[in-house]
Amino acid sequence: MPDLCHREPEFAELTRRILRALESVYTRAGETHRAVLLSSSGTGAVEAMISTFARRDVPTVVAANGVYGERMESMLRAQGKPVVAVRSDWLSGVDLEALDRALASHPEAVHVAVVHHETTTGRLNSLGPVAALCTRHGCRLLLDAVSSFGGEELDFESIPIDAVAGTANKCLHGVPGAAFVLAERDLLSKPSQSPSLYLDLCRYLDQQVSGYSPFTQPVQSYYALDQALLELQEAGGWQVRRDLYRSRSQRLQAALFALGVETLLDPEVYSSMLTSYRLPEGKSYEEFHRELKEAGFITYAGQGNLKGQVFRLATMGEISESDLDRLCLALKRSLTDDT
Ligand SMILES: *Cc1c(COP(=O)(O)O)cnc(C)c1O
Repeated sequence: MPDLCHREPEFAELTRRILRALESVYTRAGETHRAVLLSSSGTGAVEAMISTFARRDVPTVVAANGVYGERMESMLRAQGKPVVAVRSDWLSGVDLEALDRALASHPEAVHVAVVHHETTTGRLNSLGPVAALCTRHGCRLLLDAVSSFGGEELDFESIPIDAVAGTANKCLHGVPGAAFVLAERDLLSKPSQSPSLYLDLCRYLDQQVSGYSPFTQPVQSYYALDQALLELQEAGGWQVRRDLYRSRSQRLQAALFALGVETLLDPEVYSSMLTSYRLPEGKSYEEFHRELKEAGFITYAGQGNLKGQVFRLATMGEISESDLDRLCLALKRSLTDDT
């Protein structure tokens, strides 16, 4: 596609189409929430959400069980906002008892920040119990759904979601450069809590109602996102995509189990699109990564303390059965001695 000036009506039309499509990925989300687009990676959308909505005067409670949950805690600290951290071991789910205690001892809190799909391990944090605690304590969620938006369920009717951050280039199949937040409509008309000028979503919203943006937007990433959202809709929406991701993940899990490779977590708790595995003893991650890369596949390493011990395989994107055949063969070659 040709370049396009982001101050022209053609760009405004493109923007409005993407906003409408983002608000339609989940049924009814558009009735209660509005999408705001910005030019950044996923982290920028999460930070804009924290910046605009996390309160300056009362603590935000962060329930973290991985890199991305802990990153939200760091964002709050970097912004000089009060934070109560409820951290759990990365191999565990959200610590619901500790979250309950934290909310009970901070009745003034209004937000719980949590990651939906914690990409560190592949765990899909179950939002139901977290939402129940929020409701009991009068709080609402700030959700990092960067790696789940479009590929897992988000129930805007039963989960008290104030805002959710997502990105173009994970389950939506766009390219990097554009990210977004879906925020509760009333919330957007309240005074912004942002200590930052650029990451203040209220500033964007004012102009995006007419399709424009206060700052230059990544036009080519917008074209790709527009097309990707159309393809998501044509393919049958997030449910169809989730089921497809899951069947691919299950195929890979079965192939790796047959090679004696174990998952890091209980297989039940994984998201549809990402699984973490323990590297077999005696196999270095560097060697594994190199062998897979030579076969045409990029694997992700473990983060933090999991570095060198695990590898992660994701099944989002346009992947064919023959790609999976080749991947299974490459995994077998790399992880068994006798080939
Ligand atoms: C990928 C990811 C991010 C950050 O995305 P970037 O685009 O790398 O900034 C944030 N949260 C989660 C859960 C992610 O998976």
